[in-house]
Amino acid sequence: MRKYLLPIMMLAIFEAVAVTLWLTKDNLFYLFNFSYIGIAIALGVFLFIKNYKHARRVVQLLVGLYMLVYLGLISQENMQIEGFWYYLFTGVFEAATIHYAVAKIFGPLIFGRGWCGYACWTAMVLDFLPYKTPKEPRRKLGFIRYITFAASLIFVAALFLAHVGNIEKLMFWSFIIGNVLYYIVGIILAYAFKDNRAFCKYICPITVFLKPMSYFALIRIKCDKEKCISCGKCKRVCPMDVDVTDNSRKRENGTECILCMECTKSCPKKAL
Ligand code: SF4
Ligand code: SF4
Ligand code: SF4
Repeated sequence: MRKYLLPIMMLAIFEAVAVTLWLTKDNLFYLFNFSYIGIAIALGVFLFIKNYKHARRVVQLLVGLYMLVYLGLISQENMQIEGFWYYLFTGVFEAATIHYAVAKIFGPLIFGRGWCGYACWTAMVLDFLPYKTPKEPRRKLGFIRYITFAASLIFVAALFLAHVGNIEKLMFWSFIIGNVLYYIVGIILAYAFKDNRAFCKYICPITVFLKPMSYFALIRIKCDKEKCISCGKCKRVCPMDVDVTDNSRKRENGTECILCMECTKSCPKKAL
C-alpha cells in the first residue's frame, strides 16, 4: 500500500483544493476542474508505479489538452501569464489567478515543477520532438526568461494604462497568438539546440515563479548514497540537466527537475 501513497496524496491535495474552492466560491466548476486534474495526475503516478512506459505522457496529454482546448479555446480563459496579470489587475481571484496560485506559485512548494512534467500544454507538444535528452551542453541564456516575464507584464499593464476597450477579447487573442509563438519558438530552439526542453530552460517566463518556489519542494528525487555507484546514467537521461545524485537543495539545476522519473527508471542500482 505504501507505494500508492503518492498518487493518493496527490489526489487528496487536489480534492481539498476542489472542494474548498467549490464551497467558498459557490461555483461547481472548481469541483469539476480540480477533481479532473487531480484524477489525471493520480492516474499518471499510478501508471508509473505500475511501470507503464508512457505514464507521464498520458497525464500530460489529459491535463494539457483539457487546459488548452477546453479552458483556453472553448471557455476563452487566458491561462497564460498575460491572463494571470489581467485577472490580478482587475482584482478578480478567478480562473488564471487561481490556476497560477495552485500550479505555479504555491503548489511548487509541495510538488516542485510537477506542472512542467505532467500538465503544461507547451511542453506537451515539445516532448514529441526527437531530442528527449539534450545533445549539447547547457547555454547561459536563462536571463531571457526575465525579459519575457517583464514583457508580458508590461503588455498587460499598457492595455490598462491606455484604457483599451474590450480587453477580454484581446486577452483571448493574445492567448492564441502567444501559444502559437511559444510553439514556433519552442520547436525552432529544440532543433537549434538539439534539446526538446530548450524553451523551458531559457525562454519560459513562468519559470520566474517556478524556480524559486520549487527550491523548497517537499516532493523531490533523492539519492541513496549507499547504493549509488556513480555511473552517471541518471544525469545522461535527465532532460533538465539535474545532478540528482546530490541531495542538497543547491544541487546543479535542482530547481529545473520536472519529476519526469527518467532518472529513477534508468538507475541500475535503484538508488533514486
Ligand atoms: S518551463 Fe514553461 S513551457 Fe516548460 S513546461 Fe514549465 S511552464 Fe511549460
Ligand atoms: S530525470 Fe530525474 S532529475 Fe531529471 S528532471 Fe526527470 S525526475 Fe528530475
Ligand atoms: S544512475 Fe543510479 S547508480 Fe548511477 S549515478 Fe545515478 S543514482 Fe548513482
